[in-house]
Amino acid sequence: MDKLQEIREMVIACTKCDLCKTRTNAVPGKGSHAAEIMFVGEAPGRTEDIRGEPFVGAAGKKLRAILEKNGISQESIYITNVVKCRPPNNRVPTEEERASCQEHLQNEIDAIKPKIICVLGNTASNSILGQSEITKNHGQTIKKDGNLYFLTFHPAAVIYNQKLGSLLEHDIEKLCGILVEMR
Ligand code: URA
Repeated sequence: MDKLQEIREMVIACTKCDLCKTRTNAVPGKGSHAAEIMFVGEAPGRTEDIRGEPFVGAAGKKLRAILEKNGISQESIYITNVVKCRPPNNRVPTEEERASCQEHLQNEIDAIKPKIICVLGNTASNSILGQSEITKNHGQTIKKDGNLYFLTFHPAAVIYNQKLGSLLEHDIEKLCGILVEMR
């Protein structure tokens, strides 16, 4: 079986934390196994929980619009979350929930081996890199455990904040530049 399909099935069957009791659907990552960029958000929201797909609600639309503007095709990305099931009322996932889900994200990274992993917002940054000062650190790259990470804002944070929206757009342009230089 295809490695990503295997990971999907593991995520869908996962009962490692209590979020499995309240989810409608688990939400595995989605995208190309040959993706150069992997985007990692916090956790599925309401729309994602209903559809079983990541970033298909308002935040996802915002992100996809910015990616499209920068010529980043859906085929060149893989998009996922730190936690694969929706926390009730969209609360921030607990440390326990994040730890339970860590294996799935690691499996996704190992299967895809993206050139760069774009970390979206404080929860993802805190979970993956142990730091949560996205306002200070956005636009930076960090090397950790053989992976290259790029930090930026979560698209949900910029929907009603034009200034943050411009910063996110600027960061994505920078990310594209980094990728071009890596080719
Ligand atoms: N916010 C996230 O962090 N992930 C999603 O999939 C949707 C909204």
